[in-house]
Amino acid sequence: MADPHLPPEEVARLHRRADELVALGSLLADGGEVPAAWSEALHALADRLGASYPFADPQYLGQMLKPPHPVAWSAYAMAMLLNPNNHALDGGPATAHLEREAVGQIAAMLGYDGHLGHLTASGTWANLEALWVARRLHPDRAVVSGANAHYTHARICEVVGARHEELPQTPDGALDLAALEARLAAGGVGTVVATLGTTALGRLDPVHRIADLCAAHGARLHVDAAYGGFFALLADGGTPGVDPEPFAALPRADSIAIDPHKHGLQPYGCGCILFRDPGVGALYRHDSPYTYFTSDELHPGEVSLECSRSGAAAAALWATLRAVPLTRDGLGEHLAGARAAAVSLAGRLEGLDGWRTVGVPDLDIVCWHRDRPTASAVSAAADADFDALAAAGWHVAKLRVDPGMIGVEPDAATATVLRGTLMKPVHAAMVEPLVAALEGL
Ligand SMILES: *Cc1c(COP(=O)(O)O)cnc(C)c1O
Repeated sequence: MADPHLPPEEVARLHRRADELVALGSLLADGGEVPAAWSEALHALADRLGASYPFADPQYLGQMLKPPHPVAWSAYAMAMLLNPNNHALDGGPATAHLEREAVGQIAAMLGYDGHLGHLTASGTWANLEALWVARRLHPDRAVVSGANAHYTHARICEVVGARHEELPQTPDGALDLAALEARLAAGGVGTVVATLGTTALGRLDPVHRIADLCAAHGARLHVDAAYGGFFALLADGGTPGVDPEPFAALPRADSIAIDPHKHGLQPYGCGCILFRDPGVGALYRHDSPYTYFTSDELHPGEVSLECSRSGAAAAALWATLRAVPLTRDGLGEHLAGARAAAVSLAGRLEGLDGWRTVGVPDLDIVCWHRDRPTASAVSAAADADFDALAAAGWHVAKLRVDPGMIGVEPDAATATVLRGTLMKPVHAAMVEPLVAALEGL
């Protein structure tokens, strides 16, 4: 693998930012003398950050990573001059209200009328709160998720003490409905986890069909929309768009996890959990003799498992949504660019001699591989192509799939394919150059 390294001009920019930022770091004074040790530390950091992949660059389409929106970045830094804590209204009197407003906008985007919800450290923590509630409501019943779901669900069930069962996925990477129906009919399932935008392929589980099955069998439904949730803005039948049906069923979910730090243009540390029934707040009931005394209003910490939470994260999200609202013309514009890039890349790859795509992308993740007869040959080609692309300045990712998913002879347990996450609108302009790079390999 090539050494990750930022282009020199980006490292130079980090060095300039170091001097600009440190002078702004106090609310008690403007600038002033900066001790040499502070400058030295920041310039040393700029050098060390050079050993990153260039996440901002159009040629980076590896993991689910991109820098936050400038408004999010500035708002975060601004709020950080106070460093509010959204555990209680004492610690974050302003930012707790900003959090409530921003979370309300996300709930409305997903179609919830009423809701209980808050920001979390991550999608993992959002899912944890959902499955904690699931176990509290049905302590003796299983939580089931598909083999396509994020690996974290099985582990979270261990943490919250819930019994977890995995169901198979279909060859195109969605939760297998026939297997789900059979499992529900056998009884003992408390909660089904569906994924709206799987981490591997960006696949949309048929949430509408899963909601029907849950309703028929009296199971709760949790939707892990950590990656795909914001694509609700494109689920309106327009172009570029996404399949509206699974999104239209979201109001039927008992809980939804969504990650503003993935497609909501936020810095890390910003997940979100939403419950349809505000009554689940009763499960969180506790007292905190240290913190809940300045207000009779509900403190955020009274309906959250985490105590200290970043008020700056709430400020950043709130300001971003004010500048880039949750509409097709607002944040939808960013998602549309990403979605259009993925559709265009998949279309080009399908027509490219010697290459095949892994199914048709539902969102903005495209996976592809060389046309080879066996799993091991597909993997060997992907490893070599990955290295050659990296050497040419292209940052993609790898994904291991079941050989059955790509219809090759299973002479190995898995086949490695290439994976591109086209989550930046600038990726649209990269489709032809990437195809040319693949043709030149
Ligand atoms: C990213 C992701 C998670 C985990 O979220 P983090 O914010 O990384 O903790 C869970 N589920 C899905 C579908 C994801 O894409």
